[in-house]
Amino acid sequence: MKVIGLLGGMSWESSALYYQQINEGIKKSLGGLHSAKIAMYSVDFSPIEEMQHAGDLEGLANAMIDGAKRIEAAGADFMLICTNTMHEFVPKIEPHLSIPILHIADATASVMKEVSIKKVGLLGTGFTMERDFYKGRLIDNHEIDVITPNAADRKIVHDIIYNELCLGQITDPSKAEYHRIINALAADGAEAVILGCTEIGMLVKQSETDVLLLDTTSIHANKAAETAIK
Ligand code: GLU
Repeated sequence: MKVIGLLGGMSWESSALYYQQINEGIKKSLGGLHSAKIAMYSVDFSPIEEMQHAGDLEGLANAMIDGAKRIEAAGADFMLICTNTMHEFVPKIEPHLSIPILHIADATASVMKEVSIKKVGLLGTGFTMERDFYKGRLIDNHEIDVITPNAADRKIVHDIIYNELCLGQITDPSKAEYHRIINALAADGAEAVILGCTEIGMLVKQSETDVLLLDTTSIHANKAAETAIK
């Protein structure tokens, strides 16, 4: 079994889900007392969040490179970054590593291909919804058309992530807002909606909607478990 590297803490609420779901994936495949081999480095999210909102891209890149090197030194065979947003820095991190990064957008695209989805809605932080590193990868590498909510709704989605979900707070009004926005994306032609932030699956559940939800945390964790035992 390969050793899975996890660069987590962004936020720890979702990293805990990764740890659980990867182990569940290994148990499902191998049974008995089998569990995942994991080397994890978990950052302090507060300075990361400050750099994100201050636009300190160099500071963020350095923090991610530092974490990734620690994970490689701890013996990981491949690694995951346990946040969609920080995948912006994959091109900066990769030259410093000799192990591969299992990209969250590629893992999600592979699930979309299985069910032939061509047009998808994307929810995530403002950085993920508005910059090109995520949408661009889906469009250019996987030929999937990506739509996002309007500016007012993007702000609602972003603020709920940082002010509530990353603090482990789940509220009914925020759940209702997310479902309203998911329905609007479906009405605009999205065949599915990517929960493109690793905390959103804590707030909205597939059982609450007819719109197909692609929970990037579960998809990424399952792909990691599969890759580890391949
Ligand atoms: N976990 C989130 C994501 O998947 C947001 C936190 C962060 O900014 O990294 O994008």
